[in-house]
Amino acid sequence: MTIQADQETIIVEAFINGQNVKSLSQVTKENPTNPTEIVGYFPVTTKEQAVEAIEAAAGAFKTWKQTPIDERIMMMRKAIEKIRAAENEIVHLLSREHGKPLYDAHGEIYVSLMWMEFACNEAKSALQEEIKEHENGKTILSYDPIGVVAAISPWNYPIALSTIKIAPALLAGNTIVLKPSPYAPLAAAKVAEIIASEFPAGVINVVHGDADVGVELTSNPLVTKIAFTGGTATAKHIIKAASETIKDMTLELGGNDAAIFLESFDVHDERAMRRIVISNFLTAGQICMIAKRVYVHRSIYDEFVEKYIEAANRWIRIGDPFDSNTTVGPVNNLKQKNYVLGLVEDAQKRGAKVIHLGQILDQKLFEQGYYLQPTLVLGCDVHDPIVVEEQFGPTVPILPFDDEEQVIHLHNESIYGLTSSVWGKEEDAISVARQLEAGTTMINTAAVQGLDVRFPFGGVKQSGIGREYGVEGIRTYTEKHVINVPKTLDLPYIPE
Ligand code: NAD
Repeated sequence: MTIQADQETIIVEAFINGQNVKSLSQVTKENPTNPTEIVGYFPVTTKEQAVEAIEAAAGAFKTWKQTPIDERIMMMRKAIEKIRAAENEIVHLLSREHGKPLYDAHGEIYVSLMWMEFACNEAKSALQEEIKEHENGKTILSYDPIGVVAAISPWNYPIALSTIKIAPALLAGNTIVLKPSPYAPLAAAKVAEIIASEFPAGVINVVHGDADVGVELTSNPLVTKIAFTGGTATAKHIIKAASETIKDMTLELGGNDAAIFLESFDVHDERAMRRIVISNFLTAGQICMIAKRVYVHRSIYDEFVEKYIEAANRWIRIGDPFDSNTTVGPVNNLKQKNYVLGLVEDAQKRGAKVIHLGQILDQKLFEQGYYLQPTLVLGCDVHDPIVVEEQFGPTVPILPFDDEEQVIHLHNESIYGLTSSVWGKEEDAISVARQLEAGTTMINTAAVQGLDVRFPFGGVKQSGIGREYGVEGIRTYTEKHVINVPKTLDLPYIPE
């Protein structure tokens, strides 16, 4: 499915039932650091091809679900080794098509492999049938595969957010049709190709495109589970498309994650200041769980802002993703760049003060690519769009608060609830954390720095339904099937 056309250009094809499928039309994928450079080509999968992929997965499911768990785990472990062996090649491709610096692309593979390993280690016990003898007889609880999974991933972490679905879905005995995002399809397809090489034909299929293909995947009656990561607005379309056939769903959606700095936070703690800057600007802010609004207790606000600017200017070095000195690359695409710029300009019009952060290492590159200099936005109203919307880019508002009740209210009035963080004395921070509506709350750290793949991850409210990661992230790909063998078959309250 991926062919190295020459040193520079990758050609991706759809992969259906163990084979590459030619497409009549191809789309170019540009390099965000230099939009005139083509990194590769990917196809527009037709509706007929999408149906073919779904049917291939449905056909393969009949035998795949019977494959013993030990064999499934063995295949996945071989795939992990192959990904590890190809890591440098994958990282370079990811960095070129996405714009994230090399260290960040390595980080994505690191998290992906950590999760895949965890899933292999835990699959057997997570999926083990449970048999309970009790006073009413015997009950068998089995974790059966669901069937064909439509896995739809976004562009910001294309490999991690594809493997987060592929590994548990296959280990649990399902088959899959993956659709990566058209904004970063190449490295995800490459990794899916590597995994597919260890599995029987039809178990993993890959199609490409956007909403048109997505609609087929989410409405086709043969698809029984949707595993989607992306925007909340897209999820609303998916729920409608899936409603005709009532599909199982895991939805990992947008967030507007708050970082709350209590009075007890030490603004002179340089490591902590570095951690919050990273939590705001890693991957140029394009992470679902990045800290997108920062609230600081008024008593430490001025000093916090001063120390924050110092820390940000030390850590943020905007440049070529292939330069080891670079910490922040371009935004992935022009649409996202313009959206973030629009939010910052709107805040400015409303009277906010915008402070540019970090140093630009290469001015020429900065001007030619989809770069945005990270910004700190001060003096916003708590309900300004830049505060309440998900920016998904390199900008962050910092706002003062007066007491815990107020900041808890500001946190919880959001329609989102993915992650949040509370910074300060541990017991104070945990006490506030317990009152926040979020899937994960981190103490004295935030974003991926506080991520633990051993525990369930997901959002509350409009940030999602269901959980990935942890044992739950494996069982989410199963139907819980109960077989009851009651001792007393005749119920006393039913008349003769
Ligand atoms: P998006 O919703 O635009 O696209 C996500 C995927 O859905 C893409 O593959 C896209 O082609 C596909 N798609 C688009 N329309 C569709 C439709 N009608 N039916 C089916 N599929 C369709 O999101 P994006 O811009 O790629 O990613 C950014 C968003 O993802 C942000 O909101 C971010 O917070 C969210 N995200 C959430 C998590 C999480 O774990 N909660 C992780 C990463 C990103």
